[in-house]
Amino acid sequence: MTVNNSLEKSVSIIKGIGAETESILASMGIFTVQDLLEHFPYRYDDYRLKDLQDVGHEEKVTVEGKVQSEPSLVFYNRKRSRLTIHLLVGTNLIKVFFFNQPYIKKNLSISDTITVTGKWDRLRGAITAQQFKLGPYQQTTDFEPVYSVRGSLTVKALRKFIKLAFQLYENEIEENLPEFLINKYKLMPRKEAMKLMHFPIAQTDVKKARRRFVYEEFLYFQLKMQALRKFEREHSKGLSQQYDLKKLRQFNETLPFALTDAQKRVINEICADLKSPYRMNRLLQGDVGSGKTVVAAIALFASWSAGYQGALMVPTEILAEQHTASLQALLGGAGLRVELLTSSVKGKKRKELLGRLKNNEIDILVGTHALIQDDVHFSSLGLVITDEQHRFGVEQRRVLREKGITPDVLFMTATPIPRTLAITAFGEMDVSIIDEMPAGRKKIETYWVKHEMLEKVLGFVEKELVAGRQAYVICPLIEESEKLDVQNAIDVYQMLSDYFHGKFKVGLMHGRLHPEEKENVMQEFSDNSLQILVSTTVVEVGVNVPNATTMVIYDAERFGLSQLHQLRGRVGRGSEQSYCFLLANPKTEIGKERMKIMTETNDGFVLSEKDLELRGPGDFFGKKQSGLPEFKVADMVHDYRALETARSDANELINSEYFWKEQSYSPLRKYLQKSGVMEGEKLD
Ligand code: ADP
Ligand code: MG
Repeated sequence: MTVNNSLEKSVSIIKGIGAETESILASMGIFTVQDLLEHFPYRYDDYRLKDLQDVGHEEKVTVEGKVQSEPSLVFYNRKRSRLTIHLLVGTNLIKVFFFNQPYIKKNLSISDTITVTGKWDRLRGAITAQQFKLGPYQQTTDFEPVYSVRGSLTVKALRKFIKLAFQLYENEIEENLPEFLINKYKLMPRKEAMKLMHFPIAQTDVKKARRRFVYEEFLYFQLKMQALRKFEREHSKGLSQQYDLKKLRQFNETLPFALTDAQKRVINEICADLKSPYRMNRLLQGDVGSGKTVVAAIALFASWSAGYQGALMVPTEILAEQHTASLQALLGGAGLRVELLTSSVKGKKRKELLGRLKNNEIDILVGTHALIQDDVHFSSLGLVITDEQHRFGVEQRRVLREKGITPDVLFMTATPIPRTLAITAFGEMDVSIIDEMPAGRKKIETYWVKHEMLEKVLGFVEKELVAGRQAYVICPLIEESEKLDVQNAIDVYQMLSDYFHGKFKVGLMHGRLHPEEKENVMQEFSDNSLQILVSTTVVEVGVNVPNATTMVIYDAERFGLSQLHQLRGRVGRGSEQSYCFLLANPKTEIGKERMKIMTETNDGFVLSEKDLELRGPGDFFGKKQSGLPEFKVADMVHDYRALETARSDANELINSEYFWKEQSYSPLRKYLQKSGVMEGEKLD
């Protein structure tokens, strides 16, 4: 085996790449010949002749035609000019403009045949020439690769370097996928695919070559994730929680409803993890209202029956309080002691609580991130559940590890993370999905209305209030911001207080209120002493007031679809029909499309896939925290099928004993070694 082939050498061995180019390439992440060859075009210019009928407005096109008129030249000033000719292309007479190239005039005469490439203006029947050649079209390059470049490096130069690299080292390009996978998916060999990515002859070449690299990229990526998962499992001394199945069954009998099949399935998955000697690292996804809380309660009960304490971590104090109440209702009857710890629990009270926790006099502790602070010590923490905290992860796990405990961890989220993202962003986790709603849920009727229609909407809200129901009104920000021009929650609150004066009571909720104030407002809304709650997005997750049936969302176009869905999920929690009004005057087509989708579906997974499609993966989680992998060729959204295939192949490979021995897997093993996974190192 060649350990040190030319592909691993510096790009500077290629003729023409001097120190300056080398440093530009380095800034693009290209160091070796191999890197250079893996710098693929991001698009191809198409120089094939096409029938103008088939070319869209403003598309680039190459045509061959006969000059029909003397070129006419117009100068605007000394530098700027336009040369116009009439060209007969097939049976179409079109115009061709040459801007700022007056010298072309003397090369052209009537009835010359020329080949022109440029942008097709369908409406004017004209091409703005970008390239031009005397004589008929000659099929030399149909497709010209276009590469991303930087600084003084030109696409042309880069093309030359890549061509040179390819000519010299083509024979050293080795296959890096096992043969059986190449055969199974009829993939192009690496060398051939490489050639066609850079020098395609037909469109289908690129397609086939790309298909191979998409799979390769995904397989390698998934291999790393799966290996990480495997090593994390095998190197983590997790708990093997021997829960009491009989007690668990009895407990389930006491629930006020029958579990859905989906709930049963995920509970089984979680229980299997509890029992296994590995540490659970599982993501539980379920749409708003799919019943995750009861799943959490059952998991906590199971862990308790095995002799362990549990913790439930949530992002806000409001949620912490609600969850404490729900868990007390669900678990209190069975004798579990559920307590709340937030940053508002201070002084003596806190000390006393922590003392009981350490003495195992508390079974379940619910709270915000205060839960895993330095001075919080459990007597035997077995299970940590987090709700709606995408960011819980590395840091928190480190804190727990430093405390010397390795509880099982379950992450719950109602943000229906598209499967595509879940298996990449959370590729090292196991994923359980509740994909079924409890029976009898009504679809929330959703309407998109223009801001001018507010009066009508308020009339509707009033009818609901008269019928004894309650309503949410959501505003994006609490303060006037000229930049964003968004509605001010305080203004809306005042406006609605005036509007409903003497009839209904309006409350205001936002992130700047003191915790006690928030608690009071929530309590009043829960008790129906407030009928309308004007709020910023702090009510987004978890809040549960079943009597609220109407939601009005201001400036709805400013929210992501998934977030709108979360907000909307605050209504439709009782037996009454619920409604959601999206007040929005979106300016873009995408904006309109998004509002329309909201009115069409209540399915969070459909919405999240759409959101991903419309906004792209970077935006989905917010750029900073996305931490999503970047692929050279593959696209997570459009190639998600390949991603799933690669994931299951990677999983099979990692768990097969041949993988660790056979020669044909050595490129894969080498890659894992290089990325540090073999040492059990962490990706993050
Ligand atoms: P989420 O997944 O959004 O956290 P919750 O756990 O708050 O959902 O559940 C929403 C509502 O559905 C709660 O009132 C809960 O009691 C109820 N619920 C949960 N599971 C079932 C079920 N299997 N059948 C009927 N109602 C259920
Ligand atoms: Mg919930």
